[in-house]
Amino acid sequence: MLISIDEARARVLEAVRPLEAEDVPLAEALGRVLAEDVTSPIDVPPFDGSAMDGYAVRAGPAAELEVIGESRAGAPAAEQVRPGTAIRISTGAALPAGADAVVPLERAEPVARPTERVRVPATEPRANVRYAGEDLPAGRPVATAGTPLDAATIGAAAAIGRAAVRCGRRPRVALVVTGDELVPPGQPLPPGGIYSSNVYALGAQVAGAGAELAGRRNVPDDAQATRTALAGALATADVVIASGGISVGPHDHVKPALRGLGVDERFWGVSLRPGKPTWFGTKVGVLVFGLPGNPVSAMVTFELFVRPALRALQGRSPDAATATVTLDEPIERHPAREQAVRVRLRRTANGLRATSTGPQGSHMLTSMLGADALARVAAGEGALPAGATVEVELL
Ligand code: AMP
Ligand code: MG
Repeated sequence: MLISIDEARARVLEAVRPLEAEDVPLAEALGRVLAEDVTSPIDVPPFDGSAMDGYAVRAGPAAELEVIGESRAGAPAAEQVRPGTAIRISTGAALPAGADAVVPLERAEPVARPTERVRVPATEPRANVRYAGEDLPAGRPVATAGTPLDAATIGAAAAIGRAAVRCGRRPRVALVVTGDELVPPGQPLPPGGIYSSNVYALGAQVAGAGAELAGRRNVPDDAQATRTALAGALATADVVIASGGISVGPHDHVKPALRGLGVDERFWGVSLRPGKPTWFGTKVGVLVFGLPGNPVSAMVTFELFVRPALRALQGRSPDAATATVTLDEPIERHPAREQAVRVRLRRTANGLRATSTGPQGSHMLTSMLGADALARVAAGEGALPAGATVEVELL
């Protein structure tokens, strides 16, 4: 009995228990997922300062002022601004006591010596001043648990003085790639051999999802070798991904091996093209995916089922970004199964438009090249016409 994509994904997510949190130094935090609400313990900026190079003054009418000192970034002035005086100031320097405005250099006119004097125009209070806490007052949340850390969030964490942040641990993923015909790239191809692209494509997807590739095992289509490799993977990983050998042929050993190792089947078979034979099970907290060996099926089912799990394990929302798009060309429906059609997206004045990446066979790796999204085309008779709208999940 085939289940729907949504049902299959729900069963995967049901089995996910987010991994524990750990402290991650900021310099290593890119792409990690926050496991805490980050709140500023200080005002940012920490003090009233100047937004310009110029003169710190008391706001008031145009005047000629005596320059009595200097406030530089990192070196505040010792003097205080009193009526009739000004203090030279740099961008980012602390506003001296007594000053409430800054006159930019280009609006001030130096006056001849002996003492250093400057003529300034009428000035409003607060002009060219950055106030303490106007960016982030102490106590203000900067980012909440579940947020993936990007450059801006990492910068904000540093600006409030955090050297490290609590993040969900990265899932350890073990790949078990099966197939007598598989040859590592870089070696000559024997008759009947093909290069094992899944190792690299899935490995890259794992890394791109913020997980850690904890092992790669290539096994021939042999029951004992498959069992040994899967046992090793189960012992070391949070997530095991097997590729190939999941169907019902005489050389498909993954399912019986998993069953023998005590992995509980949660589903086998999804009403999906490509990716129908996808298998999922669990063993005490380890998630086990049996993905079809066809390269496109493997990549697509990774996106539909494995990536959401890897996100949820890290404490992040599992959902891919979605959009409703208009088809540029008809797409043939499958009479019984939902399809995940690889499409390119184009922004137009009337919204996003989608074009298929070309022939969509599950062995056509080129259909993944340049794909922006998976269009979910429901089962049905005939074609979905050009101009129809479909939901896509962005890649
Ligand atoms: P399977 O799911 O093992 O029946 O494999 C289905 C198809 O995918 C076969 O044509 C395999 O040769 C191919 N295939 C399996 N594993 C890989 C791999 N690692 N890289 C590229 N193609 C593969
Ligand atoms: Mg095979």
